[in-house]
Amino acid sequence: MIRDHISVWNNCLSIIKKTIEAQPFKTWFEPIKPVNLEKDVLTIQVPNKFFYEWLEENYVDVIKKAIKTELGFRGTLNYQITVENHRQVGSPDFRQKKTGQTDDATEPVLNPFAIPGIRKFKVESQLNPGYTFDTFVEGECNRFPGSAGMAIAKKPGGTAFNPLIVYGDVGLGKTHLAHAVGNEITKRNQDKQVLYVTTEKFTNQVIQAIKANSVNDFMNFYQMIDVLIVDDIQFLSNRPKTQEIFFNIFNQLHQAGKQIILTSDRAPKDLVEVEDRLISRFKWGLVADLKAPDFGTRMKILDKKLEGENLSLAPEIKEYICTHIKSNIRELEGVVISLVAQSTLNRREIDMKLVREVIRQFVSMVEKEVSVESIKHLVAKHFNMPVEKLHSKTRLREVVMARQLSMYLAKNYTNSSLKSIGDSFGGRDHSTVIHSLKAVQDLMDTDLIFKDNVTALVKKVKTTLVNK
Ligand code: ADP
Ligand code: MG
Repeated sequence: MIRDHISVWNNCLSIIKKTIEAQPFKTWFEPIKPVNLEKDVLTIQVPNKFFYEWLEENYVDVIKKAIKTELGFRGTLNYQITVENHRQVGSPDFRQKKTGQTDDATEPVLNPFAIPGIRKFKVESQLNPGYTFDTFVEGECNRFPGSAGMAIAKKPGGTAFNPLIVYGDVGLGKTHLAHAVGNEITKRNQDKQVLYVTTEKFTNQVIQAIKANSVNDFMNFYQMIDVLIVDDIQFLSNRPKTQEIFFNIFNQLHQAGKQIILTSDRAPKDLVEVEDRLISRFKWGLVADLKAPDFGTRMKILDKKLEGENLSLAPEIKEYICTHIKSNIRELEGVVISLVAQSTLNRREIDMKLVREVIRQFVSMVEKEVSVESIKHLVAKHFNMPVEKLHSKTRLREVVMARQLSMYLAKNYTNSSLKSIGDSFGGRDHSTVIHSLKAVQDLMDTDLIFKDNVTALVKKVKTTLVNK
């Protein structure tokens, strides 16, 4: 059977004809011309934009049903509009025009991936309204990514920073900055459809879409987004299907001049188990890293957080806090929250003594001075195996797990680099360590018993630190 645009459209018409009155059929469907069929995308030509909008408003269900019946669940309809005798092929550059603007011959046409009925639907941005540029303290450590973010906010999709990739260690403000850009764009232009999604959530959506046989709808949904923010793309690692779908969405949005903002806990080149073609795309735009804040910036951030909590502290107390909490802004915030809790709930005055106590809890957890060796001993003892086993080449599941877990703890509770952690486990390279961190994270998400083991070990590591 030959399947061309004419026969497909004729079949659609016979389906549609059965469900609507003769007169509207004549008015709204007879003037339509099928122009192209490529894969599962049928392109039809309608006389003008109003015509198209009318179809979408009134006949979307009928059209959708006919298309799906003819072309299967992947079937998509693309409109082409004739503008003052100029025929234009659907261009992904379509921007909704403001009312009052006059039509001109170069008016771009509709998004070729538009599926009837989906285009007009407003997507919740999922942005956190508290993460703005106003609450984001600027310092040497974040000036570069911060100003790139601001430039993007002023002209989403219109700068060379596409994608913008913000990377940096945990707690340095990647998520905050990404939201700030999104919020700023929304503030400047309500029409821009911004969407924030974590890589975890995106992955789950992909899994659901595959299960429900609706990958195509899923991809179409993402086509409507003007500014896509994907947080923590390091979690794309080892997820080939998610990567494939993300790759397609990325390409379509990028081609359409839509803005993409990504965050990662490492530079693109250090992403492991992520396809090269994706990594090379990531390098198209701007890769900017957030560094640990210097003392002055920490003081400014602390002031901001105190202001937010309506709390004021003596200068020497602030200085003490910023001297001790060095590399993670989330922890700086944690200290403030603890202090607020202590002073309001327990009605304690915030003096040096209290601050020392609070910091001690934090610093003991975070000031990474436990050694990799002591972690290995703790883990080996916990699982009742000789320490040397952790270095061995064995693939025994429990040994592999204990080793991965040790690496995970070493990364989180020492200052050792990935490379030196690898070295201290029988000369493994840094990508093995990254893989282990991911494996532990995945297992914690799925295996409750394993998670209990991790929690117990973390407690032991912290106790070691406190008793130091
Ligand atoms: P990451 O995503 O890099 O792990 P987050 O963006 O979650 O870090 O930041 C951790 C916390 O520190 C957040 O509550 C955020 O508001 C705060 N924070 C980070 N950077 C700044 C900054 N420059 N100014 C004010 N607060 C910040
Ligand atoms: Mg984050």
